[in-house]
Amino acid sequence: MTDRYAVFGNPIAHSKSPAIHHAFAQQTGEDLAYEKILAPVEEFAATAKSFFADARTKGANVTVPFKEQAYALCDELSERAKLAGAVNTLIKLENGQLQGDNTDGLGLVSDLAAHTSLQGKTVLLIGAGGAAKGCLLPLLDADVTSVDIYNRTKVKAEQLAAVAPTRCKACEAGTLAQGYDVVINSTSASLHGQLPDVPSSVIGEHTICYDMMYGKEMTTFNQWAQAQGAKLVIDGLGMLVGQAAHSFNLWRGIYPAVEPVLQQLRQQLEQQP
Ligand code: NDP
Repeated sequence: MTDRYAVFGNPIAHSKSPAIHHAFAQQTGEDLAYEKILAPVEEFAATAKSFFADARTKGANVTVPFKEQAYALCDELSERAKLAGAVNTLIKLENGQLQGDNTDGLGLVSDLAAHTSLQGKTVLLIGAGGAAKGCLLPLLDADVTSVDIYNRTKVKAEQLAAVAPTRCKACEAGTLAQGYDVVINSTSASLHGQLPDVPSSVIGEHTICYDMMYGKEMTTFNQWAQAQGAKLVIDGLGMLVGQAAHSFNLWRGIYPAVEPVLQQLRQQLEQQP
């Protein structure tokens, strides 16, 4: 009996998750099927419960706008998911209960770690939404020295920084340091061709900049960061493949090779009209 997985979202037609997981399955010789499920906005819980009622179903991914609803559906939660208040990975346990995890931050950290060691680094995290929340514990676990958090709505940055006050602090534009080792844009500003309101002094010639967004063209934030002289700019495609690899590992107990799948996706993206 082939194990069954899916990604739930609305919209979902654009999702690359089935292609990524099928590539992982082929690479590791795992027997699984992975589909996209468009859940009606008001009916995520019912749609997910019916999917998990199938004996073949072993797990699922969840994307926008259902990560908080998936969190509410779980019987058990990882610490990462609790902090994020959001779940992107559902795992069906032997007793049929649902365990929730959040692998977005793990995907970010694995992708960054492929470019630089995070140990001892100073990090500026711009944004304090769901993606930022999912990334904070994995960043701290990677032994960064400090995480300064800057968000348009400051109270959200303060709430997030309070999770680990010895290493995190909420900043205003005027209290940001100069030349962070790593600057991560977790805002959705690039989606609208906009920039978060941070001074260019946060970027030095040694700074690595990461925009969680990705696309065929370089993101607005990465274009700006490159123009400020950043050493390296990275987009979120590796985070996408990385979070999928961590989900795959939670389900199958095998961590697949990310790089060949990332290269394949990058090529497909570049060939898009
Ligand atoms: P949320 O809606 O939870 O949070 C959005 C964040 O962006 C908030 O901090 C918000 O600030 C800020 N923001 C939005 N617009 C602007 C703007 N114009 N200027 C400054 N700040 C702005 O979204 P998520 O955290 O879930 O997602 C954020 C981004 O990360 C998205 O682009 C998403 O696609 C990407 N992402 C990528 C993943 C990947 O695998 N590559 C995985 C997950 C997310 P405020 O609080 O003030 O509203």
